[in-house]
Amino acid sequence: MHDVPFTDDELLAYLDEMLPVEKMAELERQLRSSDELRRKAAAVAQRRENGAHTVAQIWRTSRLSCPTRSRLGSFLLGTLEAELTEYVEFHVRTVGCRYCAANLQDLEAELDRQPETKQRRRKFYESSAGYLRGADDE
Ligand SMILES: [Zn+2]
Repeated sequence: MHDVPFTDDELLAYLDEMLPVEKMAELERQLRSSDELRRKAAAVAQRRENGAHTVAQIWRTSRLSCPTRSRLGSFLLGTLEAELTEYVEFHVRTVGCRYCAANLQDLEAELDRQPETKQRRRKFYESSAGYLRGADDE
Protein backbone atom coordinates (compact mmCIF):
# COMPACT_ATOMS: atom_id res chain seq x y z
CA MET A 1 0.00 0.00 0.00
CA HIS A 2 1.35 3.38 -1.02
CA ASP A 3 1.50 6.13 1.52
CA VAL A 4 -0.58 9.09 0.48
CA PRO A 5 1.45 12.26 1.01
CA PHE A 6 -0.07 14.77 3.41
CA THR A 7 -0.08 18.47 2.71
CA ASP A 8 0.90 21.13 5.24
CA ASP A 9 -2.75 22.15 5.43
CA GLU A 10 -3.76 18.62 6.31
CA LEU A 11 -1.07 18.38 8.96
CA LEU A 12 -2.28 21.66 10.37
CA ALA A 13 -5.86 20.43 10.39
CA TYR A 14 -4.62 17.33 12.19
CA LEU A 15 -2.95 19.42 14.88
CA ASP A 16 -6.18 21.35 15.31
CA GLU A 17 -8.12 18.07 15.44
CA MET A 18 -10.16 19.05 12.43
CA LEU A 19 -9.20 16.22 10.15
CA PRO A 20 -11.82 13.58 9.34
CA VAL A 21 -11.33 10.55 11.58
CA GLU A 22 -10.31 8.15 8.80
CA LYS A 23 -7.69 10.54 7.51
CA MET A 24 -6.44 11.16 11.01
CA ALA A 25 -5.97 7.43 11.57
CA GLU A 26 -4.03 7.14 8.31
CA LEU A 27 -1.83 10.10 9.21
CA GLU A 28 -1.09 8.67 12.64
CA ARG A 29 -0.15 5.38 11.06
CA GLN A 30 2.26 7.16 8.72
CA LEU A 31 3.67 9.29 11.52
CA ARG A 32 4.74 6.14 13.32
CA SER A 33 6.67 4.86 10.31
CA SER A 34 8.00 8.00 8.63
CA ASP A 35 10.78 10.21 10.00
CA GLU A 36 10.20 12.58 7.13
CA LEU A 37 6.53 13.05 7.95
CA ARG A 38 7.36 13.55 11.64
CA ARG A 39 9.83 16.28 10.69
CA LYS A 40 7.25 17.87 8.42
CA ALA A 41 4.61 17.74 11.17
CA ALA A 42 7.06 19.26 13.64
CA ALA A 43 7.79 22.11 11.23
CA VAL A 44 4.08 22.75 10.72
CA ALA A 45 3.52 22.68 14.50
CA GLN A 46 6.36 25.18 14.92
CA ARG A 47 4.89 27.57 12.36
CA ARG A 48 1.52 27.19 14.05
CA GLU A 49 3.10 28.10 17.39
CA ASN A 50 4.49 31.22 15.75
CA GLY A 51 1.02 32.09 14.54
CA ALA A 52 1.99 31.86 10.87
CA HIS A 53 -1.37 30.43 10.00
CA THR A 54 -4.33 28.65 11.50
CA VAL A 55 -6.91 26.29 10.14
CA ALA A 56 -9.48 29.05 10.56
CA GLN A 57 -7.45 31.30 8.27
CA ILE A 58 -7.07 28.62 5.65
CA TRP A 59 -10.76 27.83 5.78
CA ARG A 60 -11.67 31.45 5.42
CA THR A 61 -9.49 31.81 2.37
CA SER A 62 -10.78 28.54 0.91
CA ARG A 63 -14.38 29.61 1.61
CA LEU A 64 -14.92 26.53 3.70
CA SER A 65 -16.42 28.29 6.67
CA CYS A 66 -18.84 26.53 8.98
CA PRO A 67 -22.57 27.03 8.55
CA THR A 68 -24.30 28.59 11.56
CA ARG A 69 -26.07 26.38 14.07
CA SER A 70 -29.46 27.66 12.95
CA ARG A 71 -28.60 26.73 9.35
CA LEU A 72 -27.62 23.27 10.53
CA GLY A 73 -30.97 23.07 12.29
CA SER A 74 -32.82 24.07 9.11
CA PHE A 75 -30.75 21.52 7.26
CA LEU A 76 -31.96 18.75 9.56
CA LEU A 77 -35.55 19.92 9.19
CA GLY A 78 -35.20 20.02 5.41
CA THR A 79 -36.16 23.69 5.26
CA LEU A 80 -32.82 24.95 4.01
CA GLU A 81 -32.63 26.14 0.41
CA ALA A 82 -31.12 23.64 -2.05
CA GLU A 83 -27.83 25.44 -2.53
CA LEU A 84 -27.14 25.67 1.18
CA THR A 85 -28.22 22.08 1.70
CA GLU A 86 -25.60 21.02 -0.80
CA TYR A 87 -23.07 23.17 0.94
CA VAL A 88 -23.78 21.64 4.35
CA GLU A 89 -23.53 18.14 2.88
CA PHE A 90 -20.27 19.00 1.20
CA HIS A 91 -18.91 20.68 4.31
CA VAL A 92 -19.74 17.84 6.68
CA ARG A 93 -19.48 14.78 4.44
CA THR A 94 -16.71 15.72 2.04
CA VAL A 95 -14.65 18.19 4.01
CA GLY A 96 -15.43 16.19 7.15
CA CYS A 97 -15.77 19.16 9.51
CA ARG A 98 -15.83 17.62 12.96
CA TYR A 99 -17.20 20.73 14.64
CA CYS A 100 -20.26 20.72 12.42
CA ALA A 101 -20.62 16.94 12.68
CA ALA A 102 -20.68 17.32 16.47
CA ASN A 103 -23.11 20.21 16.18
CA LEU A 104 -25.41 18.17 13.94
CA GLN A 105 -25.32 15.26 16.31
CA ASP A 106 -26.22 17.55 19.17
CA LEU A 107 -29.07 19.11 17.18
CA GLU A 108 -30.36 15.67 16.22
CA ALA A 109 -30.49 14.68 19.88
CA GLU A 110 -32.38 17.89 20.59
CA LEU A 111 -34.87 17.20 17.80
CA ASP A 112 -35.36 13.67 19.07
CA ARG A 113 -36.75 15.13 22.24
CA GLN A 114 -39.41 16.98 20.22
CA PRO A 115 -41.73 14.31 18.80
CA GLU A 116 -43.49 16.69 16.39
CA THR A 117 -40.30 17.24 14.41
CA LYS A 118 -39.39 13.59 14.29
CA GLN A 119 -41.48 12.78 11.24
CA ARG A 120 -40.45 15.53 8.88
CA ARG A 121 -36.80 15.99 9.58
CA ARG A 122 -33.97 14.62 7.53
CA LYS A 123 -32.42 11.41 8.67
CA PHE A 124 -28.91 12.66 8.44
CA TYR A 125 -27.10 10.09 10.47
CA GLU A 126 -28.93 7.05 9.20
CA SER A 127 -27.61 7.63 5.72
CA SER A 128 -24.22 9.10 6.48
CA ALA A 129 -20.87 7.40 6.50
CA GLY A 130 -19.73 5.50 9.56
CA TYR A 131 -16.97 7.94 10.35
CA LEU A 132 -19.47 10.43 11.73
CA ARG A 133 -20.50 7.94 14.34
CA GLY A 134 -16.90 6.82 14.73
CA ALA A 135 -15.99 10.34 15.83
CA ASP A 136 -17.57 9.50 19.15
CA ASP A 137 -15.47 6.59 20.27
CA GLU A 138 -12.08 8.22 20.58
ZN1 LIG B 1 -17.88 23.15 9.98
